[in-house]
Amino acid sequence: MKLDVNALRYLSKDDFRVLTAVEMGMRNHEIVPAELIARIASLKHGGTYKVLKNLLKHKLVHHDSSKYDGFRLTYLGYDFLAIKTLVNRGVFVAVGRQIGVGKESDIFEVATEDGTVLAMKLHRLGRTSFRAVKSKRDYLRHRSSFNWLYLSRLAALKEFAFMKALDEHSFPVPHAVDCNRHCVVMSLIQGYPLEQVKELQNPDTVFETILGLVVRLAEHGLIHCDFNEFNIMIDDDEKVTMIDFPQMVSVSHENAKMYFDRDVECIFKFFRKRYNLSFQENEVEYDDSDVDSDEGCRPQFSDIKKVSGFLDKDLEASGFTRKDQNDMEKFVDRDVEKDPGSDCEETEDGGDTIDETDDGSVKLFESLSLARKEGDSILEGNIEDTRNIAHQD
Ligand code: ADP
Ligand code: MG
Repeated sequence: MKLDVNALRYLSKDDFRVLTAVEMGMRNHEIVPAELIARIASLKHGGTYKVLKNLLKHKLVHHDSSKYDGFRLTYLGYDFLAIKTLVNRGVFVAVGRQIGVGKESDIFEVATEDGTVLAMKLHRLGRTSFRAVKSKRDYLRHRSSFNWLYLSRLAALKEFAFMKALDEHSFPVPHAVDCNRHCVVMSLIQGYPLEQVKELQNPDTVFETILGLVVRLAEHGLIHCDFNEFNIMIDDDEKVTMIDFPQMVSVSHENAKMYFDRDVECIFKFFRKRYNLSFQENEVEYDDSDVDSDEGCRPQFSDIKKVSGFLDKDLEASGFTRKDQNDMEKFVDRDVEKDPGSDCEETEDGGDTIDETDDGSVKLFESLSLARKEGDSILEGNIEDTRNIAHQD
């Protein structure tokens, strides 16, 4: 999906206020009645409809009059809210080119004020059918109603929490920088998905490293569940980084063994096919010295010995911290029981309140000075200069 951040420059304080009101209304309504939006936004001089028309023009909201006159956020609208929040927090100042399209996400380069380039992952959980999501994942344990906004936000939260925890336990993952709504900002990995790498200098070493990671993850109580050539990045020195964590599960999950075996099998299969690795499986030595099993075997789930500082405990089975989990729980209850008229008072960790002190401008975009690194091919000519992006109020 194209992310045209230029429209940000035309958005006023009122535009963002109404956009935020639509977001708030969506906690209880798939399509938010126009009157409710007006009530939540309570613009000083009225005119919510006019603003909605402008948002519609920029494709930030979708109009639906099939049942009543109402609106919902589009992905782009949600993107803008997250981007604005992150820019206001000073996380980045510019959005660059798209560097990845995943099954359920779009990945863009973003640049910080000092010119450091980071990766921004926008989760798009509604992209695959809900049925597929539900069968694969356990986000929805406590929730009877849902929408893609909620799901994508939860996916981002979970990914951010896992990335941070894995990083702290010295797993080779991107460094988690910040998270808002459905958006995770992380360090940019200088490399390619293994899927794009036709040849390796040392396929055996890379293979052993990757297999060692699956084992070490399990020792820490986690199974990636999507550990394949698309989610393993490799750089010119053949250093491995793993990405993409929203689907991870605990080793105590009822299907843990199956997921573990599937991750292992995926790696064997890929290396056999792509790099013609003709290993005798019982000769494979994976890069892990703590496993108390016959050294050199294909890793067996039953042989995994848990280590102390069990990550899974911190994160809970389906992700994030206990606090996030509690917050989520509260949100679920409130969402079901809340009177729609009371939307305005509600605040949510991912969603911003309408803040009178917020002048609606995207200040940091103005002071953009991108120190483009010479010879850095990933950057050259690709970062869209957004220095003029500020509201034109
Ligand atoms: P999905 O969950 O949609 O599969 P991924 O996290 O796997 O999304 O990302 C999709 C693609 O985006 C990856 O295959 C990779 O090419 C690119 N990508 C993701 N994260 C980063 C990163 N931190 N640095 C560089 N490229 C990345
Ligand atoms: Mg992926």
